[in-house]
Amino acid sequence: MTALLTKHALSSVPIRTDSMRANVFRGIDRFGIEEVQRPRAGAGEAVLRVTLTTICGTDLHIVRGEYPVQPGLVIGHEPVGVIAELGEGVTGYRVGDRVLVGAITPCGQCHACLSSHAAQCGHGEGYEAIGGWRMGNTIHGAQAEYVRIPYAQANLAKIPDELSDEQVVLLADIASTGFSGAESGGVKIGDSVVVYAQGPIGLCATIGAKLMGAAMVIGVDGDERRLEMARRMGADHVLDYRSQDVVAEVKRLTGGGSDVAIEALGQQVTFEHALRSLRPGGTLSSLGVYSGKLQMPYDAFAAGLGDHRIVTTLCPGGKERMRRLMEMVRTKRMDLTPLLTHSFRLEDIREAYALFADRRDGVIKVAIRP
Ligand SMILES: [Zn+2]
Ligand SMILES: [Zn+2]
Repeated sequence: MTALLTKHALSSVPIRTDSMRANVFRGIDRFGIEEVQRPRAGAGEAVLRVTLTTICGTDLHIVRGEYPVQPGLVIGHEPVGVIAELGEGVTGYRVGDRVLVGAITPCGQCHACLSSHAAQCGHGEGYEAIGGWRMGNTIHGAQAEYVRIPYAQANLAKIPDELSDEQVVLLADIASTGFSGAESGGVKIGDSVVVYAQGPIGLCATIGAKLMGAAMVIGVDGDERRLEMARRMGADHVLDYRSQDVVAEVKRLTGGGSDVAIEALGQQVTFEHALRSLRPGGTLSSLGVYSGKLQMPYDAFAAGLGDHRIVTTLCPGGKERMRRLMEMVRTKRMDLTPLLTHSFRLEDIREAYALFADRRDGVIKVAIRP
């Protein structure tokens, strides 16, 4: 060890080309920074040097053992970076380009992708449920110094020079997902929209509903700081479920029920409240990730005769989606930087997970810098 240190001290630049630091999942609550093999770009792929990433609620499910991934996997799925290597066949990009990659990396060529369901990408053919989510799920992810991007041609979105990493990192997942709640809900100009839960995704659903033209957006949560952020992000009313009957209040504010209710938590209670908040013929747009069984009390949806629509959406990905979202930031239609409340070095990622999991200190999203 001493010899090694001396050798390093003598060389002016430490050369480390085939290894990198990455957050590796080993088992329930067993994860952390390890030295692992640095990825290389195969045909059609790219390798990014990650400059900024973050932690998603889904990563918490992974480290708690609630969503299964293979031990040994590098987790994380929200990379901003610089192209370090381009595989054969990827055109229109250069090493050194700054890019954003969505959490969902579709192939762009399969049945699902070509039918506008890229999140359910079948990798070259057919459909596969959640198949578009690969990074930090079925292949190594972004909480690392380097990440390999599959189907690079379909997924590298160049970042306009005037935008910082901080301005775009939350577009990869939470903004794309949250906005899709409003888009899939078919929010129209003049609609009333209630959003259940004001975590990172719910806050983006609130912004999305406003962008889609809602006349009234109601944010529901039980955390004062999140409700305050909901107001800041454009909610016209915020309701604290701890102190009031939120369904009754939504009905009162909207004159009988909202046009659209967005569920952004993935629990029976929020799903049911969303359903009960709707007017007949309204749309429940669900973003939550559920486990176990979801029940639908007959009275909440007029015994199945109330003309309700229930739709679900997984984060839309691909470079065109990312380009559109970056355009919204560039033209100042929205600013997500207030949601990036804390910052950590990659080396301190366990600390960041703990803070994020406990929702300490008013945390919404954490910036992770490799
Ligand atoms: Zn995510
Ligand atoms: Zn595909």
